[in-house]
Amino acid sequence: MDNHSLWEKGIKEHQHQNQKLNQFQTDILIIGGGITGITTAYFLMNSSQNVMLIDKSEIGRGATSKTTAKLNYLQGIIYQKLEKNFDTKISKNYFDSQIEAIELVKKIVKKEKINCDLEQCDSFIFTKEEKGIPKIEKEKNILESWGIPCETVQNLPLPFPIRYGMVVHDTYTFHPLKYLLHLKKIIQSKIPIYEGVIAYEITPQKNHYLVKTNQGNILARQVVVACHYPFFLFPSMIPIKTYIKREYVNASKVSFPYHFTAISIDSNLHSIRFYKNYFIYGSHQHRLTNQIAYHKNYEKSKSDFQRFFSTEPEYTWMNQDIMSNDDLPIIGEIKNHPGLYLATAYNAWGMTNGTIAGKVICDLILKKPNSYIDLFQPNRFHFVGLFHSTLGAFHYAKIYLQTMIQKNPVFESNSVYVVKINGKYYGVYYDETGQKHIVSHQCPHMKCNLVFNLEEKTWDCPCHGSRFDIDGNVLEGPANYSIGIDWSEKKADSQ
Ligand SMILES: Cc1cc2nc3c(=O)[nH]c(=O)nc-3n(C[C@H](O)[C@H](O)[C@H](O)COP(=O)(O)OP(=O)(O)OC[C@H]3O[C@@H](n4cnc5c(N)ncnc54)[C@H](O)[C@@H]3O)c2cc1C
Repeated sequence: MDNHSLWEKGIKEHQHQNQKLNQFQTDILIIGGGITGITTAYFLMNSSQNVMLIDKSEIGRGATSKTTAKLNYLQGIIYQKLEKNFDTKISKNYFDSQIEAIELVKKIVKKEKINCDLEQCDSFIFTKEEKGIPKIEKEKNILESWGIPCETVQNLPLPFPIRYGMVVHDTYTFHPLKYLLHLKKIIQSKIPIYEGVIAYEITPQKNHYLVKTNQGNILARQVVVACHYPFFLFPSMIPIKTYIKREYVNASKVSFPYHFTAISIDSNLHSIRFYKNYFIYGSHQHRLTNQIAYHKNYEKSKSDFQRFFSTEPEYTWMNQDIMSNDDLPIIGEIKNHPGLYLATAYNAWGMTNGTIAGKVICDLILKKPNSYIDLFQPNRFHFVGLFHSTLGAFHYAKIYLQTMIQKNPVFESNSVYVVKINGKYYGVYYDETGQKHIVSHQCPHMKCNLVFNLEEKTWDCPCHGSRFDIDGNVLEGPANYSIGIDWSEKKADSQ
């Protein structure tokens, strides 16, 4: 069993040559090389502006390497949600953006001759519950009114029964890393890409932004923050506009002669797609703040997979995505910060939204018209969002107290505990060889207490999703500072 995703299989690690940062001034700086940053760079690479891209790790090793990579406009029951939250016009505008994103990916793949296994397929949404039927009917009616041919179905070739479903035909799947790494090669011939460069802070200056990194300061006229979850709180206040969802994914070779995608609309999510002879199954999704005994979710998702397909998963991995409180992604220029752009909160549909974000931001920079600038703008205000922000504050407070009281919820393990030294809490983990690893127990992002993830041996923030390895190095943001402690603190503990 492997905690890497299926996409990372066969892709060499540490492909980058640890290129040292040697450029400290640019017109446009893109921070982050996932689907958002790479697509933005692709659209900007032939402009007259100087562009550079930095990534704290390797290109494509963030959320994009752990997606299920459905390129799809049938996104659960999103269109009725947007009608309810906003109105039909906004719902249709979002639908158009998703169709345009799919067309953009198809066009790029064709033009650049990218071998990324892009394939057309049917996509289903389904319910296992009676109460889900009218929701599926409603989504079907909305899509039909926009000219999309859909049919209802009573069953699906799945190892469990469904109650009702619907299908559309013109959706796609692809291999996200093959796509991204091919684009990286093309972009690199025009734009410098620096891997291993961590952005710490962005400070506005007269007509410029000063970006502090681990390899020196970069002065940029415009900055695109494409790092999944922004590492700063102000401006934009993303933690109060969003929450994190985690999902557990399993994959194995199975003898199913099908190729389609399917997701359930029920609270218990089932997400299905095929890649070659692999069956990819996502399940046990939860709001990050609702569940901290992560290993139980890995176990449940693996045992479901085994029960359904009578085989052990070859790959088990976890991914988390940022969900917006009003169900629309957050993409665009931040109010009162001209030249500072943000793209996040894709609600687990980042293949389309990361692509359209690249186009929207490129058009904003080049001052070209774009139909989705108002739709996604980061400073929008809506009552639904406000209600969920208030609810979110309670969730954060609950999880904070829970980790305070329990200190470390993973009591079942005797290799992990939390100690208090001179009034500060530290997380201690003993590895298989008995070696002790000590880290600070607080996430540097917003000071939430960390939880040990027994399955992947990481310290995870249950509030905003930052993750650290056993020695405190940042694996995933928004935190961008390590929680490793120096030797003198370790010595204090052993006394
Ligand atoms: C289980 C699961 C399944 C999903 N399946 C689908 C699907 O089928 N279809 C779909 O459309 N979407 C899907 N998604 C959503 C999708 O995977 C994400 O929305 C998308 O990959 C986000 O892309 P990104 O470019 O914004 O972020 P990332 O891919 O995470 O890229 C961000 C990059 O920024 C870098 N970075 C971060 N912080 C810094 C810093 N301080 N300095 C420098 N660099 C930094 C990181 O190293 C990383 O490379 C799924 C999500 C989940 C959780």
